[in-house]
Amino acid sequence: MKKILRRCAGCNCQKSRSEMIKITAESSTGKIIVSGDNRVFGRSAYVCYDNNCIELAFKKNRIFKILKTKPDDSLKKSVKNCTCKHGCATNILEMNLEK
Ligand SMILES: [Zn+2]
Repeated sequence: MKKILRRCAGCNCQKSRSEMIKITAESSTGKIIVSGDNRVFGRSAYVCYDNNCIELAFKKNRIFKILKTKPDDSLKKSVKNCTCKHGCATNILEMNLEK
């Protein structure tokens, strides 16, 4: 089976899906879902479970450019809460997509 690699929005390295935090702008609801599973459909950005990568990804609002959403500081907080890696609950953040 071919391993699908995702690119980190922070350090730009490529890792497998399970090693990254997934951030999806769900297209149907306009919600930003952190660490969402594959049932979430929309534009996605990935970042390593690493505070440095998260800082980099949010620097210059890079992550919001990938997601095509308005910058919002509360998303960074949610992503940082995800760095526990194990036992991290799906974090749903209500955000409106920029049209
Ligand atoms: Zn990274």
